Amino acid sequence: MKLILLGAPGAGKGTVAKMLTEIDGSVQISTGDILRGAVAAGTELGKKAEAAMKAGDLVSDDLIMGIMEERLKEDDCKSGYLLDGFPRTIPQAEALKTLLEKMGEKLDFAVEIDVPRDVILDRLTTRRTCTDCGAIYNVKSNPPKEEGKCDKCGGAVVQRDDETNEAISNRLDVYNEKTAPLTGFYENEGMLLKVTATDSKTVIDAIKNKLG
Ligand code: ADP
Ligand code: ZN
Repeated sequence: MKLILLGAPGAGKGTVAKMLTEIDGSVQISTGDILRGAVAAGTELGKKAEAAMKAGDLVSDDLIMGIMEERLKEDDCKSGYLLDGFPRTIPQAEALKTLLEKMGEKLDFAVEIDVPRDVILDRLTTRRTCTDCGAIYNVKSNPPKEEGKCDKCGGAVVQRDDETNEAISNRLDVYNEKTAPLTGFYENEGMLLKVTATDSKTVIDAIKNKLG
């Protein structure tokens, strides 16, 4: 399957993407994970992205499109992909459309995961992430078995730099201003599936249903 996952930070895009990869071997492509990897490795890309990320602002469309053009050409994309955290602005959505046309590719649809704001805020402040494999935990509802250590890979499970209260509130504002309009974009394209649900299983079922 080839899907775009839309939704506010903390809506569960990453969790849903990981569950979907297990269905048909599609790969999860998270621009956030790619950028965090680049920051950790200290690459040129990482240096360019770091300040914006830490503040909860968006990285420039040019940098993101450069990353995605390369990424979508890789071999593993032949089995399908789940775009998690991309596109995030109307210019990115337009550029993706052009890129896919050029590549002769067609997406199945875009999924909007709609979660109430109070649930989002609670999730983001209690979320913890593995710095090695990106696995997501929650200190209240889903802590790692051993505190601070990933069940899956043994990596360090930490609170992200951009998950301070200030950065979180900025990320939500940025989402509402820049990314929320994408649901209208994909609705106009006749390719939006909106699911209002706080549990990932409901989202997965709705996607399976629409894929047929
Ligand atoms: P979230 O949990 O907010 O969805 P991500 O892990 O997807 O977080 O992204 C973390 C940060 O990486 C964003 O706040 C932003 O700075 C940057 N980023 C990720 N994807 C994009 C994108 N498509 N366009 C611009 N910036 C991005
Ligand atoms: Zn891990």
